[in-house]
Amino acid sequence: MGVCSWPESLTEYNSVKYIRIHSVTWGGLRCFLSATVALSIGCIVLIYRLYQETDEVNSSIRTSVKGVAYTDNRIWDTAEYTIPMQAVNSFFVMTNIIKTENQIEQRCPEYPFPKAICSSDKSCEKGSVDINSHGIQTGRCVYYNATVKTCEVRAWCPVESMENPPDPAVLRHSEDFTVLIKNNIHFPKFNYTVLNIPQNLNTSCTYNKNTSPHCPIFRLGDIIQEAKENFSEMAVKGGIIAIEINWDCNLDRWFFNCHPEYGFRRLDDKKIKPGFQFRYARYYKLLPNGKEQRTLFKVYGIRFDVLVFGTGRKFNPIELIKNIGSMMSYFGLVATAIEIAICVGNCSGCCKSPFYRLYNRKKTETVLNPRQVMYVSYVDEPHVTLIKKPLKTSLQHTQGSIVESDLVKFDDAGGCCPSEAEENDDNEEYALTRALRQEAFSPYLPEWCCCGKCRPTQEYHEQLCCRRKEGPCITTSQLFQQLVLSRHALNKALLYKDPFLDLTDDRINDQLRHLAYKQYVRWRFGSFDLEDRAVVPSCCRWKIRDAYPKADNNYTGFETE
Ligand code: ZN
Ligand code: ZN
Repeated sequence: MGVCSWPESLTEYNSVKYIRIHSVTWGGLRCFLSATVALSIGCIVLIYRLYQETDEVNSSIRTSVKGVAYTDNRIWDTAEYTIPMQAVNSFFVMTNIIKTENQIEQRCPEYPFPKAICSSDKSCEKGSVDINSHGIQTGRCVYYNATVKTCEVRAWCPVESMENPPDPAVLRHSEDFTVLIKNNIHFPKFNYTVLNIPQNLNTSCTYNKNTSPHCPIFRLGDIIQEAKENFSEMAVKGGIIAIEINWDCNLDRWFFNCHPEYGFRRLDDKKIKPGFQFRYARYYKLLPNGKEQRTLFKVYGIRFDVLVFGTGRKFNPIELIKNIGSMMSYFGLVATAIEIAICVGNCSGCCKSPFYRLYNRKKTETVLNPRQVMYVSYVDEPHVTLIKKPLKTSLQHTQGSIVESDLVKFDDAGGCCPSEAEENDDNEEYALTRALRQEAFSPYLPEWCCCGKCRPTQEYHEQLCCRRKEGPCITTSQLFQQLVLSRHALNKALLYKDPFLDLTDDRINDQLRHLAYKQYVRWRFGSFDLEDRAVVPSCCRWKIRDAYPKADNNYTGFETE
């Protein structure tokens, strides 16, 4: 076989052998399941668009906020309330502010937070810094106002008051500001570039989910509303809002669709420390001494993060073949399902039905180790018996199992029947008389013999009679003489193989003897794979040996190994 000799295996192809069941039930089930699988594959291909190649989006963002507000006796324009952010794809709009003006680096009382309040200089430690403090303590306890004393610090004075931001927010009107988001995307695989601004855009439009979903100009109040938040609440402490731009582009000519979809949600946690704020300062030089003075701003506002994601898709036949190919294995489920159904039927007591009996016989083929089995056949039993080694008693008394699947007794009886076997022949007469003469030598009958013709032996595997129950020996039957012993027939069979065989050769007896054993096995067992594991009963063996004896009478017997 190919496994052992690989060069030969290169010139072989092993195809799978199937068992075909003619049945409306199973055939119908197969058709139904196959159709279901085919339909499912079709649906999956269409729903998940597995016929298209995909590519991730590459994107760049530009934003410009517009709007002017008048509050706190002051005009707030773009330069005032939009502060450039470090992060890419983000913009910030100020909504609230705490301003501390005219700060100079000097000594002044700390803002009265619990740890800074003192009664005497002893409570203040020189040089110490609290995590909440604005400066370095000088060691003195001074009046912050008429009633409260706090530790003096060296800091930017006066220190910023640690108050809550103003409510309502200073720049609450910024909800009417608008932002234009220019988003340029590119799908490198398809070399396709597009901008989120439609060519026929009405520049005075404002985004609305329902009426103008493609307009790239957004009112800040609408964004917050879409994110299900309240602008005036959020304006007090600020927050972070995500503007999601989702591009799901079908680039096939016949179904072309490549428009962005906008989504909005709040990113910072509303429950735990909500808000977004930071500080910055504007510095001035005081004349004439050149001392530095600053105005400190603590600003609250909304940071907008623009997140772009999406996929481009385009039909690709290779992708389609690849995906369908990978799903072809689903058809294997059909066979598995039917196998399971048959298995369930088999196990649920239906095994007595002729269908399952026949199915099991066809389905499984047992491979036995030839060294561990022997086959025996009795003339008074219709079946062949399989006996497994090692033997603990005589072969005749060893229990075996009935062989059902492989062997059909006498299956090719016609093939081995020499038609002219009944012809009387001088040689045959001679052989028979010689055999009968030699039978007189058998001194006593072994206890395992039921036919009265077997000879004693020490080997368990040779202790086999031609029958199970007492009765006439098979060697006395006319057919045994004709099929097995007939020299005329055996000569013909030898010549059939080798027409120029010298029948007068000295060693011709060995060939005749072995052919006779073979004839017996074919007659009693039929032909099968493990022909040489069939045991010839003692009586037959000796009858054949007597008819065609070996020169030195030293017989090898049944090869046990
Ligand atoms: Zn016997
Ligand atoms: Zn016998």
